[in-house]
Amino acid sequence: MTERAFNFSAGPAVLPEPVLREAQRDLWDIADSGVGIAEHSHRGKVFTRVIEEAEADCRALAGVPANYKVLFLQGGASSQFFMLPANRLPEGGTADYLDTGSWSSKAAKEAAYYGTAHVAASTKAAGYDHIPDAAETNYSSDPAYVHFTSNNTIFGTQWKTEPEVPAGAFVACDASSDIFSRPVDVERYGILYAGAQKNIGPAGVVLALVREDLLEPVRELPTMQRYATFAESDSLYNTPPTFGIYLMGRVFKWLLAEGGLAAVAKRNEDKAGLLYGAIDAGEFYRGAARADSRSLVNVTFTTPSPEIDARFLEEAAAQGLAGLKGHRSVGGMRASIYNAFPRAGCEALARFMTDFAAKHG
Ligand SMILES: *Cc1c(COP(=O)(O)O)cnc(C)c1O
Repeated sequence: MTERAFNFSAGPAVLPEPVLREAQRDLWDIADSGVGIAEHSHRGKVFTRVIEEAEADCRALAGVPANYKVLFLQGGASSQFFMLPANRLPEGGTADYLDTGSWSSKAAKEAAYYGTAHVAASTKAAGYDHIPDAAETNYSSDPAYVHFTSNNTIFGTQWKTEPEVPAGAFVACDASSDIFSRPVDVERYGILYAGAQKNIGPAGVVLALVREDLLEPVRELPTMQRYATFAESDSLYNTPPTFGIYLMGRVFKWLLAEGGLAAVAKRNEDKAGLLYGAIDAGEFYRGAARADSRSLVNVTFTTPSPEIDARFLEEAAAQGLAGLKGHRSVGGMRASIYNAFPRAGCEALARFMTDFAAKHG
């Protein structure tokens, strides 16, 4: 077997090694049942235990209050871009969107199919290099909800805390790239959703925490588009992504064993600090995000020129530092260092950056 690289991929992304090893075994035979996890009926005893534990561990990990449903959905985070307004933006109503990058603007675009999507703030003119403050934000008079993207995967910016929103509106959040990378006060949200493939599992499953009073749709909707359908059936209305739910559940157990979200946040801060330290050490690198808005999980930066960026990527890859190419809309480099990404990989990249700057600076 080849050695595993330090995988800086933005998503699908690195998974915890102990979880992968356990999954290797369980794919063959889980719980001495003689059947692999991907081969069990979603209504059988073995999978029932898997999904119940995944929910219980999610609740324990994030302190999910009893009046929130934990839903396992499909269609990627991108399907939440329409499912949220379909369920919660009334005909003729307005929802406010905080536009901090490509994912936020895609979310706002889908809301416009159902009602008015008011862009209350946008940092697009600044190249999405920061998180807007209250002075840059202009809410509509009575929004149904305010949607924001807690971490902007492509640009490498992150909200330090939830935005303050008008009374009467609930907060809806796409946390796809930083969910459970730090403690979260679920009560501040009406709906919090995330595709699993960055911080908490494989592609193909979406986690949604939905406050109970928001489950019923504001309009007639097909069965599979309603949050209530999944809430009433414990995410088992149809065949759920069983392997994805299994793997997500195992990641939750791993996060609990690692000490929970506060401990994980500390580690993530330390890891990010190594890379921002290397960026700030001289004039060679430039961080793509404004310093006050830097993401702890997607670290974006450039060298003095696109040609040197290309050299950087080539030499880094040769040293087992994989997946560092920035998103095509930003260029440069992006180091995605989610929960499961090891500190040793950040140390290796920081060392590489220092050496590379000395050689090419
Ligand atoms: C990756 C990502 C998405 C898209 O997720 P899909 O599961 O591919 O639909 C949406 N929002 C954010 C913030 C992301 O990082």
